Amino acid sequence: MPTPETGYDPSLGRKFVFVTGGVMSGLGKGITAASTGRLLADAGFDVTAVKIDPYLNVDAGTMNPYQHGEVYVLKDGGEVDLDLGNYERFLGVDMTSDHNVTTGKVYQEVIERERGGDYLGETVQIIPHVTDDIKRRIREAAAGTDVCIVEVGGTVGDIEGMPYLEALRQFAHEEDDDDILFTHVTLVPYSKNGEQKTKPTQHSVKELRSIGLQPDVLVGRCEDPLDEETREKIALFCDVPTAAVFSNPDVEDIYHVPLVVEEEGLDEYVMDRLGLTEEALAPANRDDRWRELVTRDRSGEVEIALVGKYDLEDAYMSVHEALKHAGQTCGVNVAVSWVDSDEMLDHHTERLRDADGVVVPGGFGSRGTAGKIEAVRYARENGVPYLGLCLGFQMAVVEYARNVLGLDGAHSAEIDAETPHPVIDLLPEQENCEDMGGTMRLGAHVTEIEHGTLAHEVYGDTRCTERHRHRYEVNPTYIDDLSSGPLRFSGSAGRRMEILEHDDHPFFLGTQFHPEFRSRPDRASPPFVGLIEAVLPADHEQPQTLDPEEVTA
Ligand code: GLN
Repeated sequence: MPTPETGYDPSLGRKFVFVTGGVMSGLGKGITAASTGRLLADAGFDVTAVKIDPYLNVDAGTMNPYQHGEVYVLKDGGEVDLDLGNYERFLGVDMTSDHNVTTGKVYQEVIERERGGDYLGETVQIIPHVTDDIKRRIREAAAGTDVCIVEVGGTVGDIEGMPYLEALRQFAHEEDDDDILFTHVTLVPYSKNGEQKTKPTQHSVKELRSIGLQPDVLVGRCEDPLDEETREKIALFCDVPTAAVFSNPDVEDIYHVPLVVEEEGLDEYVMDRLGLTEEALAPANRDDRWRELVTRDRSGEVEIALVGKYDLEDAYMSVHEALKHAGQTCGVNVAVSWVDSDEMLDHHTERLRDADGVVVPGGFGSRGTAGKIEAVRYARENGVPYLGLCLGFQMAVVEYARNVLGLDGAHSAEIDAETPHPVIDLLPEQENCEDMGGTMRLGAHVTEIEHGTLAHEVYGDTRCTERHRHRYEVNPTYIDDLSSGPLRFSGSAGRRMEILEHDDHPFFLGTQFHPEFRSRPDRASPPFVGLIEAVLPADHEQPQTLDPEEVTA
């Protein structure tokens, strides 16, 4: 029931953890936030998250991976910031576009409502109209959950973040004290003489307080755990109990952050402050499957070459994570070596020689595609396990058309509009589409898998539901020619070809979809597990596998 004072339904989410960042971006604020969420989920709570991106883009779909890393795709087709991928992987939940609030979305809504006359002649302003819309979005995204983690992108003090911090201030004012917790993540650098310096933290907390926000919990990012003296100093200057100051030291693997912050008691402190301790499962009864997987023993190492055009790990973040999950599942370390697709031109495939397997990920535009086709040829001709994702699937079709079927100049119409053989062509629904944002074939769609194929073996099923993001597809007029030899389309959705494989190759799989976006530590993506199993040395000892019943659906 909406309350008269606030006009909102208090059942829309129970408890909120607001996470802000100080000093500088890139501190791993999202990982700290997601780790807190993971621990609360282990303690039996329904946890979700909202990521606020204070930019004017409506969504991340049109953003360049060099600036923002990969565009992460959600089940509902939302094209969002890659942090949402971390939340899905850490929390084990499927989120929707509503969980990524951007200034573009908020302003679009407010302006549309103004044009529709909804504000009845009022002057439309940042406070209250924009801040009201921000609060509405947070409450709606939190609906039905116990705890919603809300991360504000950027750093406190950024002009574009101001309306959000003001909205959070109002939000806290409207809710009961024990329903809201503010966590501030800052940097605690070392000085030259090895002292942990608290001044940057003091300044950023001062900035927060000047806009009416007092943090409840402070997390210091630092190379090592914070010294007792540092914690006391931060507590004194920032007006929090020493017990509310936590450290988030450097760790080798981001999936160990929940274990590190748990060690410091962050989860217990947060639950206590939010009045959740009584409801929480006793530590001995908490879910530890995630922990078991991320700390599982791994022996040996396999090397996977990732042939892409961006020399930036974040541009292929979910592919890296999916390879890691597959390695965890198979009990092996996976070393990923990035190979610049341009280096592959003119048959220069030396860089691939040491790799046990090859992955060609998704991509757009022509740069690097010639090299990707070379990488496919190398893997196909040399029996090297291959996984092609979206563009990597399309380039496998092009390579086969050219080098096996002899269709000279065959290409994707995206890359060569004049090709005599457009084996990959625009989806019919894309033909009259002019807008770039949100107009591709996006999100989760079902693929029917042919019985008895490699895809069937890999998925252990005759259907899969995976996420998509593409404008082009296999041209139906070439399907018969393309499937007349060892290449087989083993997965399809109506007339759309979704999976390809080669009958005369140890492991050659291409998917029009992006399986990496569904991969989680406790649910590694089947095509990635298939690839890693295909490159494992014969004498590799498989770790004990979990009972499938126990793995989260
Ligand atoms: N550029 C290709 C298309 O639009 C592939 C997209 C991708 O790899 N995500 O179909």
